[in-house]
Amino acid sequence: MDAKVQLYIPRSFNSFQGFSVKDIKEHFSTEHMEVILESHDDRIRLCTCCVHKLGIMKDRYWVRARHLRVFNWSVTINFWREKRHCSHCKKTRSEWIDFICPTSPHMTLELAWWINRMSEISAVLQVSKLDSIDKMSCYAVDKYILTRLLQGYQIPDVTQISVDEVYARGPIQRKKGESRDDLFLTVIVDQRTHKVIWVSKSRRKEALDSFFEMIGKEACQRIKVVTCDQHRGYAERVRQYCANASLVWDKFHLVQAFNEALNEERKKEWDKYGEQSLKEDDLLAGKYKYIYLTKSANRSKTDRRHIEEDMKKNERIAKMELIKEHFHKMFHCQDKLEAQIMLSECYEWAWQAKAFHLLKWIMSVRERNEFWNYFEHRLTSGVSEGINRAIKTLKWMAYGYKDMNYFALKIMQRSGYLNHKYALQWMYQKETNA
Ligand SMILES: [Zn+2]
Repeated sequence: MDAKVQLYIPRSFNSFQGFSVKDIKEHFSTEHMEVILESHDDRIRLCTCCVHKLGIMKDRYWVRARHLRVFNWSVTINFWREKRHCSHCKKTRSEWIDFICPTSPHMTLELAWWINRMSEISAVLQVSKLDSIDKMSCYAVDKYILTRLLQGYQIPDVTQISVDEVYARGPIQRKKGESRDDLFLTVIVDQRTHKVIWVSKSRRKEALDSFFEMIGKEACQRIKVVTCDQHRGYAERVRQYCANASLVWDKFHLVQAFNEALNEERKKEWDKYGEQSLKEDDLLAGKYKYIYLTKSANRSKTDRRHIEEDMKKNERIAKMELIKEHFHKMFHCQDKLEAQIMLSECYEWAWQAKAFHLLKWIMSVRERNEFWNYFEHRLTSGVSEGINRAIKTLKWMAYGYKDMNYFALKIMQRSGYLNHKYALQWMYQKETNA
């Protein structure tokens, strides 16, 4: 009979490459389990830095690495890790262990994947509390797994994309040599699936270049529509890379710009009345400003009364109101021709009211195809509104992000494909092909 006692070893504990389980120690009082591993003699030791074969042994140290819980018991994997001479690095190096997370040597890779998986549905901070793992290790591990998933990441074929910017950091976090643009991220969304397909650092034009270069010439040719904000210099880049794409200025940004121009007019008008009348009736200042920025249908009764009184006093403001309503209605037009007529009317009325800010603004858009393309494609970056909310929630949950690369990865994880549903299988495919 064999003298060696056969232990019952759960199958999940027999997956440590190069090692076998020698013993399992249970500590009932602390609900903790220690799995003691024994190295196989024929194991090939590789360098953690250069993955070359290591030479003679110099030293060894006892490793206690956190592993996945079993029946809510905490588990550590315990083994001797060797330090050997690496002829390539010309130094003593620790050996490479397959099942240990490379960025956090006190954690198994299994646990790292699990933390990443949990962080898809919860904040990393919560995951760290749930598993009582140090917060910073959790962040590091989550980022490491996301970076690994990114290596197999495939940008899906797209024909309609929207480009929008997201405010990612406050000005306090601005580093030396960075401009305001660096506080933003450029988010690229597939209009068909409403998923984030890529996130670039900064909101500069170059942010788009990296995306177009990554997907390649042919994929660029397949893009038919690009929606974006008129103020950013994206147009030039889109024309340069995507010969077949028509550019659409985003409706929400246009309305915003229009309202700003209109507000300039109102301010000018009010300046004429001087301080005295402002004291009497603070209609355009402070809290009343928002009344003007909302559509008439959305205003309350009191708000409407305010405006009516105001209009009696000031005919020009009344005219401005009409122009605004007209402009908003224009987006409901059936076709471009109908919309063109409406914008011409806005222009005429602005001329009659001598609203030069508004005139200037209308002139700046009415000759541009990007403006009229909306009536052909009916696309706005409005799809990103939902995504913007998801991104904001992400930011709140983590109390902001200092690391922009990590934030970009998290956006792609939450609102895109960089998660276990998609990117994991892409990563496996790439690894098996390689
Ligand atoms: Zn080495």
